[in-house]
Amino acid sequence: MTKRFCDLCGKEIFKIQETYRVCVESSASIYASKQDIADVIVDVGEICPACAKRIHQTVQELKLEGVANG
Ligand SMILES: [Zn+2]
Repeated sequence: MTKRFCDLCGKEIFKIQETYRVCVESSASIYASKQDIADVIVDVGEICPACAKRIHQTVQELKLEGVANG
């Protein structure tokens, strides 16, 4: 069986069911005028549950920040 490692923290992922794929795309309206929109898309490979949770939390915080700044 092939070993799987988290693409972010490098830890070994023991249960293959616990791998996550994450794709974060910035608000299209902000970058609509830019040609290099691909640069604002974060697409990591397979990550562990801990990193998935951290990304989720961070994204939520960023969204709240965006709302607060209007
Ligand atoms: Zn990780």
